[in-house]
Amino acid sequence: MIDKKVKVPVREQEPKVRAGNFKEVCYGYDTNEAMLEATRCLNCKNPRCVQACPVGVNIPSFIAKVKDGDIEAAAQIIAQNSSLPAVCGRVCPQESQCEGSCVVGIKNEAVSIGKLERFVADWARERDLNVSKKDPSNGIKVAVIGSGPSGLACAGDLAKKGYDVTIFEAFHEPGGVLTYGIPEFRLPKKEVVQYEIDSIRKLGVKIETNVIIGRTVTIEELFEEENFKAVFIGSGAGLPMFMGIPGENANGVLSANEFLTRVNLMKAYLEDYDTPIRRGKKVAVVGGGNVAMDAARTALRLGAESHIVYRRSDKELPARAEEVHHAKEEGIIFDTLTNPKEILTDDTGCVRAMRCVRMELGEPDESGRRRPVEIPNSEFEMEVDTVIMSLGTKPNPLITSTTDGLETNRKQCIVVNENGLTSLEGVYAGGDTVTGAATVISAMGAGKVAAKAMDEYLKEKYLSE
Ligand SMILES: Cc1cc2nc3c(=O)[nH]c(=O)nc-3n(C[C@H](O)[C@H](O)[C@H](O)COP(=O)(O)OP(=O)(O)OC[C@H]3O[C@@H](n4cnc5c(N)ncnc54)[C@H](O)[C@@H]3O)c2cc1C
Ligand code: SF4
Repeated sequence: MIDKKVKVPVREQEPKVRAGNFKEVCYGYDTNEAMLEATRCLNCKNPRCVQACPVGVNIPSFIAKVKDGDIEAAAQIIAQNSSLPAVCGRVCPQESQCEGSCVVGIKNEAVSIGKLERFVADWARERDLNVSKKDPSNGIKVAVIGSGPSGLACAGDLAKKGYDVTIFEAFHEPGGVLTYGIPEFRLPKKEVVQYEIDSIRKLGVKIETNVIIGRTVTIEELFEEENFKAVFIGSGAGLPMFMGIPGENANGVLSANEFLTRVNLMKAYLEDYDTPIRRGKKVAVVGGGNVAMDAARTALRLGAESHIVYRRSDKELPARAEEVHHAKEEGIIFDTLTNPKEILTDDTGCVRAMRCVRMELGEPDESGRRRPVEIPNSEFEMEVDTVIMSLGTKPNPLITSTTDGLETNRKQCIVVNENGLTSLEGVYAGGDTVTGAATVISAMGAGKVAAKAMDEYLKEKYLSE
């Protein structure tokens, strides 16, 4: 007899074992477990879960198919709205989106929508099912800048409508944060990310890597010299922010982006690679979001005693609940209500400690979260040899500074209307470069919205006779 009040548990690697390897933490559901979990869904007439999904996946319909054991039909339903289901099933913040709105969650544990989506996507991938349909080619060239979730979603949708789509990517590997940010133990690169990118390639999308728009070629040149008729900018928000405290330039201080990129993209954790990384003995990661959890858990796997240093309390941690839970299980030490004031160095200029201050929570600020306030005379030294700053990121200004007339706001984000159209005709944008650092699903949603508007614009302008 199963207890229908709680989710069917998902199998995971033991915390002690996984803390020493980079293999995926969660094994996901098998068919029986998924079918059992699917019986917990009430198939609501007005499903609140769908309203809370940024891309509107028809959740009750796909879950009903899982319940009947028709997984292929479930995959087809998900594919109508999502081009990266195996990714979203793994990394979406379900607790604040679909599962956070699930009616079952009012009295009991919400339906495990994310794990069901992951199961269906993995099932389809293992069978190499092609669930996407494509219109005949119309020969119109569209450029997509950046191969993260926003660019991939936009490119995929436009290719399905028959456009000749080329993605330009600055790095040598496509995928954006999916490839260089989120670690292997949360999102396997070869099996999952590469597969989803290949599916988009199979739709006819070309991906040119090592092309930096704004340096190798400008947006103007894409239009005037390369005959592209529309451009989507999905260049993300990859520029790290720092605290501006003394000592931040010391040897042993790095941004989470740099640390994770070196580990993920350049395989710096493998001894025989040319890009080794500093393996700290005692590492402090400053911040409390998903990126901070990923950096702390990566440092742990590289052999460090790993701390999260966060100025608010446990309750305000912005990371996905599952990441915080996994990090704690693995032995990450959480120094909450703590804020660094200075990074202290030894006589060789290397980090030896952080001078920190204890915090308490005051009145709520503009974000609605209680403002952290310093406790007087509570300063102390925390001995560390590596500090990883994970305080958020903003868009790199390269594209905006090389494109005349492209409007940005005071946070350097590109300004768009509700259809993703920028201040320039034929130029659309979406994802983190518009919103600032956000989520995979919202980036993907923005790519899809822009693709729809680009299709309407291009049809009107070039295919209307
Ligand atoms: C470590 C980490 C963990 C995260 N964890 C989660 C999570 O668990 N759940 C979640 O929902 N979200 C998570 N996020 C956030 C999420 O990954 C991002 O919101 C999402 O990837 C944004 O997608 P994007 O397409 O806008 O940009 P990106 O994924 O950043 O992709 C942008 C791409 O554009 C390329 N580019 C930039 N400039 C140029 C240029 N000039 N020319 C050509 N190419 C260019 C970049 O190289 C990059 O590949 C995480 C982010 C990080 C960094
Ligand atoms: S809200 Fe919950 S119970 Fe209702 S359809 Fe969505 S997943 Fe099923």
